[in-house]
Amino acid sequence: MSDNITTPITCRDTTWLVSSARDQPLTPQQARQLAAHLAGCAACQVASRQFAQLFAQLDTLLARDAAPDDA
Ligand SMILES: [Zn+2]
Repeated sequence: MSDNITTPITCRDTTWLVSSARDQPLTPQQARQLAAHLAGCAACQVASRQFAQLFAQLDTLLARDAAPDDA
């Protein structure tokens, strides 16, 4: 295995990366793979935008409804 080669990822991988990036920062390689895929995949460009909007709405809802979790 080589860390230097950016392995192409699938649309499914892209979706997973976009959603997991919310919980933890992507590694430089993951970010590179994500950017490379988005550059060539219109479907994922749209999907990632929709994800961002969905997450923004979720954050708004959660901030309003949920008490801060201090535990
Ligand atoms: Zn794609």
